[in-house]
Amino acid sequence: MKFELNQYHRNISKDELIKDLRMVAEKLNKSYLSRSVYEKNGKYSATPYIRNFGSWLAACDIAGLKTIRNKEDFLRISDEDLLNDMQLVSKRLNTKSISTKDYSEHGKFKVQTILSRFSTWSEALKKANLEQTDFKIISNKDLFDEIERMWSKKGKQPTTTDVKNGLSEYSLNTYIRRFGGWRAALLAFVEYINNDEDYEKAIQEETTEIDNGKKEQNLLENVKEDITPRRKTSRDINLRLRFKVLQRDNFKCCTCGASPAKDPSVKLHVDHIVPWSKGGETVMNNLQTLCSNCNLGKSDLL
Ligand SMILES: [Zn+2]
Repeated sequence: MKFELNQYHRNISKDELIKDLRMVAEKLNKSYLSRSVYEKNGKYSATPYIRNFGSWLAACDIAGLKTIRNKEDFLRISDEDLLNDMQLVSKRLNTKSISTKDYSEHGKFKVQTILSRFSTWSEALKKANLEQTDFKIISNKDLFDEIERMWSKKGKQPTTTDVKNGLSEYSLNTYIRRFGGWRAALLAFVEYINNDEDYEKAIQEETTEIDNGKKEQNLLENVKEDITPRRKTSRDINLRLRFKVLQRDNFKCCTCGASPAKDPSVKLHVDHIVPWSKGGETVMNNLQTLCSNCNLGKSDLL
């Protein structure tokens, strides 16, 4: 017997396709089926329909389904509308989090519409900037961390399109509600990164203090206090410093040049050149950007 691979969905008859389309419409009690709704509920992908009937709508037409959405669908409730209404309900009920039950009693739209748009209630709450039942609050720092992650990932300034395309863990709405707009969010981020003067000054002052101390001790011979320099900086590389180092290094590995912008699997780390444990300070000129591979190689050598 000849061995053959399964003709996977290749030879489905037109009748079979139409039958399944009708079945899904019946099951969902809908007279209009979008591709994505069918694909979620049907047996096949939209591809064989398009191949056999020329277009998705032509297939729907043959199956006796509507080829335009009903008025409500056609008016296209935007995500914004749904989220705004969720917020309205939360305000009306004077709570920071609302349940599906709250919404179904006080909201303008169907809970189902929100769920089908955002897949889970928790996700919808997050997008509406409402609190979860576990009350996880997104801090500005969380948002800055995320902007930095996106910036590094892209190797340049992230755009609203990046956020909409899911590069950000938080929705565009979250940034807009917090800062007033995407550009404002970026400005706040840049300001946050640049507002590092105090930190730099503190290091400078401390260094001067120690130098002065040394001079004094040289003068006073009888003082035999140990003046081995103590660590002036903490081992922890804060977000500001991290971002500045990444930016200086063009979001590329200093050793091999790998960048997440070119290869999404690349992960960049900011690392001490002279290890902190060996007296290296956490300052710009003792920090470098390395990819995971080079970073691992480095710690093996040390
Ligand atoms: Zn590398």
